Amino acid sequence: MSHLLDYDYLFKVIMMGDSGVGKSNLVTRFTRDEFHADSRATIGVEFASRLVKMPDGKTVKIQIWDTAGQERYKAITSAHYRGAVGALVVYDISKHASFLNVKMWLEELRHELCTDQRIVLMLVGNKSDLIHLRAVATEEAMGFAKANNMSFIETSALDSSNVDAAFQTTVEEIYRVVS
Ligand code: GDP
Ligand code: MG
Repeated sequence: MSHLLDYDYLFKVIMMGDSGVGKSNLVTRFTRDEFHADSRATIGVEFASRLVKMPDGKTVKIQIWDTAGQERYKAITSAHYRGAVGALVVYDISKHASFLNVKMWLEELRHELCTDQRIVLMLVGNKSDLIHLRAVATEEAMGFAKANNMSFIETSALDSSNVDAAFQTTVEEIYRVVS
């Protein structure tokens, strides 16, 4: 059995995006297979970890830094960004404004990162289960991701679809860059 201390690489990955898009639930779904219909913001940065296997058999510990509601006030400290090698930039497919704000989050990221810091970016359209409320077309998001050098995936923390894939793909891409 793999132990959480047994790993070959440790990657810090950060969650970004508007409040309410489902960042925390993506993290709890991925690390604990839990979903909270009524998640309330807590104070301080929250961490979660999980081991993932790379195609060559190596083990990566992914350390995910979630925000705890500070994104609402744009009060995320630089500690959140420091040393990050990957970022999941999340929007809600049923809220077009949260998609438009991705641009703002990318600017914030560019502003916070060290000039030599390379970071793998994954654009995540969450709440794909809300089919009847869709406000962001898949093609539109795909085009934006391509133009901004990001990978792209649609997920649902509620029904679990693509949640593992979102994190796994990000980590495999980071792994390709560093190894
Ligand atoms: P955060 O502020 O970005 O961390 O968002 P949360 O994870 O706290 O989620 C905000 C709200 O959206 C909560 O009520 C969640 O239950 C809900 N939510 C999160 N992910 C999904 C999803 O994939 N589908 C649906 N329908 N609701 C979701
Ligand atoms: Mg949250």
